[in-house]
Amino acid sequence: METAVKEKSRIFRFGNRTTDGSKEMKNLLGGKGANLAEMSRIGIPVPPGFTITTEVCTEYHQIGKEALIEKLRPDVEEGVKYVEKIMGKTYGDSENPLLLSVRSGARKSMPGMMDTVLNLGLNDEVVEGLVKKTNNERFVWDSYRRFIQMYGSVVLGMKPDTKEDTDIFEEIMDDLKERRKIKLDTEFSVEDLKELVVAFRKIVKQRTGKNIPSDPWEQLWDATMAVFDSWNGNRALYYRKMHGYPSDWGTAVNVQAMVFGNMGDNSATGVCFTRDAGSGENVFNGEYLMNAQGEDVVAGVRTPQQITKLGSKRWAELARIDEKERREKYPSLEELLPDLYAELNEYQKKIETHYRDMQDMEFTIQEGRLWILQTRDGKRTGTAMIKIAVDLLKEGLIDKKEAIMRIEPMKLDELLHPVFDPRALENAHVIAQGLPASPGAATGQIVFFADEADKFKNSILVRIETSPEDLEGMNIARGILTARGGMTSHAAVVARGMGKCCVSGAGALNIDYKKREMKVGDKEYHEGDWISLNGSTGNIIEGKVATVEPELSDDLAEILELSDAFSSMKVRTNADTPNDAIAARNFGARGIGLTRTEHMFFGQDRIRAMREMILADTRNGRRRALRELLPMQRGDFEGIFEAMQGFPVTIRLLDPPLHEFVPHELAHQKELAKDMHISVKAVKNKVDELKEFNPMLGHRGCRLGNTYPEITEMQTRAIIEAALNVKEKGVEVKPEIMVPLVGTLKEFTLQEQVIRNTARKVFSERNDRVEFLVGTMIEIPRAALTADKIAVHAEFFSFGTNDLTQMVFGYSRDDVGKFLPVYYEKGILSNDPFESLDQEGVGQLIRTGIEKGRSTNPKLKIGICGEHGGEPSSIEFCYRVGMDYVSCSPFRVPIARVASAQAAIKNKEATV
Ligand code: ADP
Ligand code: MG
Ligand code: MG
Repeated sequence: METAVKEKSRIFRFGNRTTDGSKEMKNLLGGKGANLAEMSRIGIPVPPGFTITTEVCTEYHQIGKEALIEKLRPDVEEGVKYVEKIMGKTYGDSENPLLLSVRSGARKSMPGMMDTVLNLGLNDEVVEGLVKKTNNERFVWDSYRRFIQMYGSVVLGMKPDTKEDTDIFEEIMDDLKERRKIKLDTEFSVEDLKELVVAFRKIVKQRTGKNIPSDPWEQLWDATMAVFDSWNGNRALYYRKMHGYPSDWGTAVNVQAMVFGNMGDNSATGVCFTRDAGSGENVFNGEYLMNAQGEDVVAGVRTPQQITKLGSKRWAELARIDEKERREKYPSLEELLPDLYAELNEYQKKIETHYRDMQDMEFTIQEGRLWILQTRDGKRTGTAMIKIAVDLLKEGLIDKKEAIMRIEPMKLDELLHPVFDPRALENAHVIAQGLPASPGAATGQIVFFADEADKFKNSILVRIETSPEDLEGMNIARGILTARGGMTSHAAVVARGMGKCCVSGAGALNIDYKKREMKVGDKEYHEGDWISLNGSTGNIIEGKVATVEPELSDDLAEILELSDAFSSMKVRTNADTPNDAIAARNFGARGIGLTRTEHMFFGQDRIRAMREMILADTRNGRRRALRELLPMQRGDFEGIFEAMQGFPVTIRLLDPPLHEFVPHELAHQKELAKDMHISVKAVKNKVDELKEFNPMLGHRGCRLGNTYPEITEMQTRAIIEAALNVKEKGVEVKPEIMVPLVGTLKEFTLQEQVIRNTARKVFSERNDRVEFLVGTMIEIPRAALTADKIAVHAEFFSFGTNDLTQMVFGYSRDDVGKFLPVYYEKGILSNDPFESLDQEGVGQLIRTGIEKGRSTNPKLKIGICGEHGGEPSSIEFCYRVGMDYVSCSPFRVPIARVASAQAAIKNKEATV
């Protein structure tokens, strides 16, 4: 094997077991290039070629086309010679021509987001020569029409005029099919194909004002530059933004010898997955088309056939095709070309074992010879992600740490989405059947164009097929439905990657973009009509279908349990009600990090007592109202303590400004006045009095407790009494009482006194006691800076990073929407600091707070209760600074458990 990994080079060769690169070199060679090199290294048949590095892309964007070509020419000429030598053909030669493809490929796969041009090197002369050489006129002219089509779109930038228009090339082909009374593009005769070439050329010239260059080298350079340009195309830009990929990565360009799946009945092309990308099942599956080129399968030009017999049977069952017809009309590759299938099966096993992950592969069969054109880690749904990780672990291909690292924490969210209620499905009216391309349940209103996906709150994007331009709309829509394309079509692959419900290839749908309607039989559905999609069965259902909460799968439970063993940092939840607490316990929360008591004051009967308390002018008046509130609060706490079964529960004392509780509308003010037997004017005056210029920095948090200690008294009593009551039932309780918005030591100690005194009183009244902690939130910069002092008294700190971020940046959380978009655009901020913790700034205060706090109180318990507690990169930060726990909303608990384990593994302190 001739293998020499080169240090500084612009091109890297692959093919024929020669390889300059390897799979580790994705940053330089892009994913596609690195894997082509790797496959070549391990003896998989890959057509030879070379990769122009991502650095060259960056160079191109700096110095421009002319200068770059000047620099790059010797390398590319050398690369082409290398390919020519292996293939025994010459690029641009008219007697024995080599044809090339130019393929994009960034370091992370961005399926279909950038461009690729096939069949480069064709012109009138070469076509003639190739006909002589291959004796296959049909193949040559089919390749030529494809070349013009792709070159026209990708390099010369042809596009439909309006979104209602279909692709002009498709239109021309459809017209011809109609005239010839044929259905498939494989049925075109040589004469037809020649006619298409003429028509395509004409339309390209008409629309772009340019001719397709006949010089093969001009073709090669222009195509290469077009691929570099596609790095900054709209699709790629949006995809990058969605995934947070930086723009300086650039794309590599792979120049590769063409192999042809369109040479006749012993040629084919296809896409396959080593496991099921939807369910994660360990079954080899995929689709292929006879006598076709690669793009056809993905673009859904014809509905492809299944590779395996099993897949083919499943497919026929869905399409209600009987076994005899299936075998005759839609045989699997396994049945049709068993030897080649066996070879493919061998490669897929070898490749998966080598990469130790589910692979998504492209292959082409040229006249009975199999070539692999691409492999990459397959996009998958959240369910598949979990199942595949657990299975690979069981199969011994990966270890526990790797299984956990394979989980994208945020993708777990998908597994927690509602599913259709099985009872509602029984009565559902199924209007048509498609392929179960991406599991999930979606109900929404029909839209036909991706850029209109936001027309309704819940929309279902219905398309003949989707294309990469539709990405943004697909992301917005609840579900995606296509009339054409199989399980490996663009729509299916992208939807699975997004974890979005998708039904593809529903051939019974007749979609008319111009009329904005879809017909099934003679029933019409229009834009705005409600439909539902079952991505697990492929059912398309009329109207809405009710949903229910999903259950945690065994596989997910296994991953979560594994995760807990790796990290010492616990996951708690933010829960204000017993229901939330129970939900969070089911997701594995080990305590409550934040119970917001104010939410308990908004109930019907409660708000009245609360308002009375606020409106009271005297301490006694307030006490009277608080006495009414006491039993209600106590009841809530009892429910929460019971739900948490001995896990710690942090309860925050009243925090928001009081004006949030009083009525601002006249009608409500009148009601309140009547209730309280006071004048409307008195109510109004009080409401006015409570108005603040900047309520978030006003009379709130412990400033309330310090001005009205009786509120703290009542809340403490409710907490302690509830704890004693639950303890009496034999349930362990661990209350932690938290003082909000502390900035100075005294603010805390005065509240602490009220809390401890009240607790002591209750204990002696009841002649019983419970252990409890008193601590504080650290959410004001001054508290973090003086944490050593506060920690002498406080038994725990909980970083309230919502307020802390607000105060460190000086941004009001409710107003950032006005300038954040501009800030992203100008690169002032790269993400929302309220979503992922600003480690550089806010993080400094957290570190300081922790260091100072622990310096005077080594036993200090420390956690976080802001939104950041459920965001993976922030969770890693919390781990690194040594927090004891993170707390997040119930549905984020599984995410946080995995993220916490990943943080431990990444920071190499895990021992399990
Ligand atoms: P994408 O990243 O959008 O999948 P690819 O570069 O993989 O783009 O190419 C698009 C299609 O063209 C694929 O189906 C691929 O298999 C096919 N293709 C690319 N290069 C060749 C080649 N040298 N010979 C035959 N088919 C090719
Ligand atoms: Mg590809
Ligand atoms: Mg706060």
